[in-house]
Amino acid sequence: MHGLMQDWPLLCHKILDHAATQHGAREIVSRSVEGPIVRTTYAETRQRALKAAQLLEREGFAAGDRIATLAWNTGRHLEAWYGIMGVGGVYHTLNPRLFPEQIAWIMNHAEDKALFVDLTFVPLAEKIVPQVPSVKRVIVFTDKANMPQTSLPNAIAYEEWLADADGDFRWKQLEETAACGMCYTSGTTGDPKGVVYSHRSNVLHAMIALVPDAMGLSSRDTVLPVVPMFHANAWGLAQSAPMCGAKLVMPGGRMDGEAIYELLDTEKVTFTAAVPTVWLMLLQHLEETGKKLPHLKKVVIGGSACPRAMTKKFQENYDVEVIHAWGMTEMSPLGTLATIKPEYLELEGDAKLDIQQKQGFAPFGVEMKVTDDENHDQPWDGKTFGRLKVRGPAVARAYYGGAGTEQFDDEGWFDTGDVAHIDPQGYMQITDRAKDVIKSGGEWISTIDLENLAVGHPDVAEAAVIGIAHPKWDERPLLVVVRKPGKEPSKDELLGFMEGKIAKWWMPDDVVFVDEIPHTATGKIQKTTLRKQFETYELPTA
Ligand code: ADP
Repeated sequence: MHGLMQDWPLLCHKILDHAATQHGAREIVSRSVEGPIVRTTYAETRQRALKAAQLLEREGFAAGDRIATLAWNTGRHLEAWYGIMGVGGVYHTLNPRLFPEQIAWIMNHAEDKALFVDLTFVPLAEKIVPQVPSVKRVIVFTDKANMPQTSLPNAIAYEEWLADADGDFRWKQLEETAACGMCYTSGTTGDPKGVVYSHRSNVLHAMIALVPDAMGLSSRDTVLPVVPMFHANAWGLAQSAPMCGAKLVMPGGRMDGEAIYELLDTEKVTFTAAVPTVWLMLLQHLEETGKKLPHLKKVVIGGSACPRAMTKKFQENYDVEVIHAWGMTEMSPLGTLATIKPEYLELEGDAKLDIQQKQGFAPFGVEMKVTDDENHDQPWDGKTFGRLKVRGPAVARAYYGGAGTEQFDDEGWFDTGDVAHIDPQGYMQITDRAKDVIKSGGEWISTIDLENLAVGHPDVAEAAVIGIAHPKWDERPLLVVVRKPGKEPSKDELLGFMEGKIAKWWMPDDVVFVDEIPHTATGKIQKTTLRKQFETYELPTA
């Protein structure tokens, strides 16, 4: 027997329709790439997205076509996304921090047919597009007056282009399982892999994100997605904010502490999200200027582990609640969020920080488990760690073109490549990347735990731990440290600081000091490069 409820396909453009009818006058404020702050509304955004869709169709783009964007978070980028999806196209966000050859590789792999590009990235696009023959059209996010001279083929200023449409267009009728977006993982190991979102997965992900124990947004919120749309869909905010009618504030190309503070303050932002590096810059700006954050209520921090000191500062000095979150491009990206369950509500101070240090628990729509190398489930005891596997309606079931099949199993579990444990209340904590974990005498050592501990020393600016080959134990940990300017902590001092705080056999066998630790395009420590750098290193214990 079937249910007798309506078949109402979950399509992304319905989100914008809803925002325009229920919250039409709500603002979308952007720091434009040209400089000034510009304001629009959900109603206007829908109208302009309809125009973009109408023009894309007129120019011959059709359902399933991949249309790339190389752009910051702005109202224009948002309109283009919805326009692309509304004509049945597939937005393909490109990360401008990758090397030009890598971007060209990705575009060729996806066979992008058109490109929307910000003024900032026109010189970059000029290097890339000639290597991507499938691109037939380039639209520069600006107006005619600011349009640069460019060698880009068939290029036009966005405003001039839009002016040619009246918006008399009906969104394409699509199946909810149709593709609507694409994003490639950064490819720290091997070639980048394409993740393909569907309308259904994006809509469900936005709903998952909105629940109170996840991001918990409402129409009374003002949301500043500092996390870029090209970094895992701005963590879904480009869909979840319009879905609940929250005001949106888009930071454009400026993510320094001063610029972010200005938007937080003048637009009275209540909710924001970004990786830890952004918040380091903001906190430094606040400390230097003595400014406060009277409007901000919540900040979501993820992408890499949120340092304990950061959570403490936001909460204790600025009265802003921190939500530590974990996710991946393959998960649209939200996986877990560390909001507080009633079992932990009484905790204060360090005990509360201990929980917030974890990456959090899964909302409805994300299933997770931890297994050993033989695929046996591990207990949720908060200490036994293993491979973290997930499944759900907004989790990838394959990569574009069939890469990485070994990460997906027959029961639908996706192997995240992260190593984690889960506590009895369901809070997950990442202890490593599977490829980074150190296997010493058959046991696993978490490099992240060691790094977190080392950066707790007041003279340490940054720390990374890698495994070095060892004749007896297979691998032993080496601690690589960047010292704070003007500080000279010694090896013995650092090891002394760590002693007693970890199991004896976890203690690094050696410490080296460097000026810099290499990072990936998304700001994570690049362990592959670091391991190469120390390939021939001999431990004193070997
Ligand atoms: P990219 O490498 O392009 O940033 P993702 O954003 O998809 O790609 O990266 C996902 C990975 O980032 C996760 O598998 C995990 O290793 C790491 N990560 C994300 N959030 C956290 C977090 N809160 N703590 C620790 N690691 C995290």
